[in-house]
Amino acid sequence: MCSEHVTVDVVVVGAGIVGLTLANLLAKQGRSIAIVDRSEVEVFKDNQDYQSRVTAVSPGSQAIFEYVGAWSAMQSKRVSPFTDMHVWDEKGNSNIHFNANDLQRNNLGHIVENVVIQASLHENLQQQSDVEWFLPEQISKVITFQDHAELELASGSVISAKLVVGADGGRSTVRNLTEIAYTEKSYQQMGLVALVETEHPHENTAWQRFLSTGPLALLPLNNGQCSIVWSVSEDYADELMKLNEHEFANALTQASNMQLGKITLKSNCVAFPLVSGQADSMVQSRIALVGDAAHALHPLAGQGANLGFTDAAVLTDVLEHAKRDIGSLKVLRKYERARVGETQIMQSAMDTFVAAFGSSNATIVKARNVALRTADSIQPVKKFFMKHAMGLGKDRPTYAR
Ligand SMILES: Cc1cc2nc3c(=O)[nH]c(=O)nc-3n(C[C@H](O)[C@H](O)[C@H](O)COP(=O)(O)OP(=O)(O)OC[C@H]3O[C@@H](n4cnc5c(N)ncnc54)[C@H](O)[C@@H]3O)c2cc1C
Repeated sequence: MCSEHVTVDVVVVGAGIVGLTLANLLAKQGRSIAIVDRSEVEVFKDNQDYQSRVTAVSPGSQAIFEYVGAWSAMQSKRVSPFTDMHVWDEKGNSNIHFNANDLQRNNLGHIVENVVIQASLHENLQQQSDVEWFLPEQISKVITFQDHAELELASGSVISAKLVVGADGGRSTVRNLTEIAYTEKSYQQMGLVALVETEHPHENTAWQRFLSTGPLALLPLNNGQCSIVWSVSEDYADELMKLNEHEFANALTQASNMQLGKITLKSNCVAFPLVSGQADSMVQSRIALVGDAAHALHPLAGQGANLGFTDAAVLTDVLEHAKRDIGSLKVLRKYERARVGETQIMQSAMDTFVAAFGSSNATIVKARNVALRTADSIQPVKKFFMKHAMGLGKDRPTYAR
């Protein structure tokens, strides 16, 4: 590989779903950008099998994809709208049901395979001229100067930019190389992800059952199958992963309480460790972190990636309004201030949910049943939660409107 030296406005490290969202937004803003990833972006082939790794894309995130022109590419591949969400507790008899009609909408969001999101954003960006691609590449050094930063790559190439963005996931190298501290807490749970077929139709509904062992979500897909995210303790995950296909499906059917009848496994099951993480700072002079590089969440509310897409939209908005140097700490602090509150609230909410719904203590069981019933019956409260979960709160960023 020949080494080169390029100069751009912004270099984005990480061509995952968040990094590519940001790169699309910045390209649309007219910025020159470079993108670095240690892997090639996965290609989507027409009629390829469904994949179990999905994201519940909120309407707010959909608006960002529409703005950059990538949503139609996602639709033309495949996206699965869901109109309802049904959440219930293993213990007690209360539940909460959300319906799109309550907000005069056609759907509450879409279940989209991560490969569809990533491939569509990639295709869209390839049509832009001012984009330099460094895939596959490793970064070896980040050096910041008063008026720019330099990113040294393993191949010997150097990228100079006003701003370096770490969109390189939970184990972010940008975060490590720039010595931004990170606090991580393990939930001591694994998220088991697989595709399943259910005996009864999923009714375009996202189903979530809270069990004392952890929540089980069944997310509806257009082909009639569901993608599951089953969060269980590490020990129980070990046991489940040792079962044969038939035994695993039986355990899953039991965990779902037969809500959709008997469940059959349609793919391998993959296990992800579940952690909550937060960078001590989302910015430094010439450096910004977005997505999982900045924060990681429990997947129970399907908000991790949506938070990352919003980071991308807010950062782009802040840069749009920056009067001078887009990599100055003064400008980047505006981005951090705009994001840190929502991230922390979301993390505390996830911790509370995991603790409250994981408990078998009779008082807590009673309290959470009352909470579910109350939230279900008071329409303004319910609508408030729905709007926020859907990224439609009044404070949503410009590009998500
Ligand atoms: C089981 C499970 C289910 C989930 N479901 C949902 C959901 O329904 N809705 C939702 O909103 N969120 C969900 N999430 C969270 C969501 O998946 C993540 O928040 C999201 O994928 C983070 O995207 P990202 O682009 O920030 O990071 P990543 O997806 O981790 O991408 C990082 C990119 O950086 C690259 N990279 C890493 N290191 C380097 C390096 N040193 N140099 C160059 N490149 C590098 C990687 O190759 C990758 O392409 C779920 C998470 C889990 C575990």
